[in-house]
Amino acid sequence: MAKVQPLEATIDIAELTSLADRAADVVQSVRSSMLAPEAKKTPPVFNSSQLAELAAVAKSKIQYLSGKGTLPSGDTGTARKEWTLKETRQWVRHLRPETLRDPALSAGVVITVANFKGGVSKTTTAAALAQGLSLRGHKVLLIDTDPQGSLTTLFGVLPDTEVEEDQTILPLIAGEVDSIMPAVRPTYWDGIDLVAAAPLLFNAEFLLPSRQMKEANFKFWKVLDQGLDPAREVYDVIIIDTPPSLSYITVNALMAAQGIVMPLPPNALDFASSAQFWNLFSEVCGDLYKEAGTDSKKYSFVNVLLSRVDQSDVVSAAVRQWIVQAYGEHVLPIEIPKTSIAATASAEFGTVYDMERGSAQPRTLKRARDAYDRFVDHVSFQLSGIWASDAKIMREMKGTK
Ligand code: ADP
Ligand code: MG
Repeated sequence: MAKVQPLEATIDIAELTSLADRAADVVQSVRSSMLAPEAKKTPPVFNSSQLAELAAVAKSKIQYLSGKGTLPSGDTGTARKEWTLKETRQWVRHLRPETLRDPALSAGVVITVANFKGGVSKTTTAAALAQGLSLRGHKVLLIDTDPQGSLTTLFGVLPDTEVEEDQTILPLIAGEVDSIMPAVRPTYWDGIDLVAAAPLLFNAEFLLPSRQMKEANFKFWKVLDQGLDPAREVYDVIIIDTPPSLSYITVNALMAAQGIVMPLPPNALDFASSAQFWNLFSEVCGDLYKEAGTDSKKYSFVNVLLSRVDQSDVVSAAVRQWIVQAYGEHVLPIEIPKTSIAATASAEFGTVYDMERGSAQPRTLKRARDAYDRFVDHVSFQLSGIWASDAKIMREMKGTK
């Protein structure tokens, strides 16, 4: 054993500040080298097989319709025909109208991705779900409510240097505006807009309780819900990524939602923590509504998504049993495999839907992507159900007028 050396406390805050500065520099340079030349992310392009799959038609129909002139005919500059993301979404919307929302009859649906714990793949799930739904033709608004801004970073925007306060939910939380719309910005991905996050969002945790004390009839848990109303007209789906805590912001995100998605890796600690989450949230939620004297909140769906599943891990099989026992029908029959794809350096700034086919081991990529596709299909199906139910109510109301 080495001889024990005295260890004095010498690291002051200035040293931590310089660590922070150096780390920020590294992130900046890594990002610009990865996203070179102009530090911008680019969306994928699609070949005719991919387009046919997304539009749910035979390849021959794509060829036939391409010649008709109403739909984008694809770029023939390369040897194989390719369509941009935007063109692909146009095709999907044209060929699968039955799955889309009718804005005259139904509103956009809010889905909140939540779990107490960090590292369970909340942010990855929110991003992949947004991309998957946009590829099915839906128009998506992503809202990052985590002051760490991981989702913002995934979309190619640096929280520390590229996000102004008025591009976040903070002005809404502070009561300076009453709509989320001024905070919305477009992203590199056609069909996905973003409300970004930055460390300044920590202020929300002081602003909300202080407004609750000062303002008569203020409901701190309704601020986001009410601010989203204008967005519910414009977007088909609004997906909210949350911080790893039951903060004031998280309560707002859960109260604004019609659907909750909880990613949950099948291991004992994460399972135990998920139990605490439901316990605490139902308590908080119950108390708020009792105090307000209004009817309690109802959700259209609660999906527990097994995430980061390591197939070779024998323990996870046992924990999976507990999860099914505890959450029953709410557990989706889908497992997102743990893959090294998500761990490669460049993929830290993207999801499986950002990866070009051929850029990773094809089988691993396909397995991960198939799992996400099934998850997205499942959510998409639930959305259609909510819209159908909205439309039914709307028609009945019109009928009785
Ligand atoms: P959270 O938002 O819950 O903190 P993240 O989505 O940021 O979780 O994921 C945490 C880490 O796990 C990230 O580094 C991410 O790349 C990685 N990760 C996410 N999903 C997977 C997966 N299926 N397999 C392997 N690593 C994953
Ligand atoms: Mg996160």
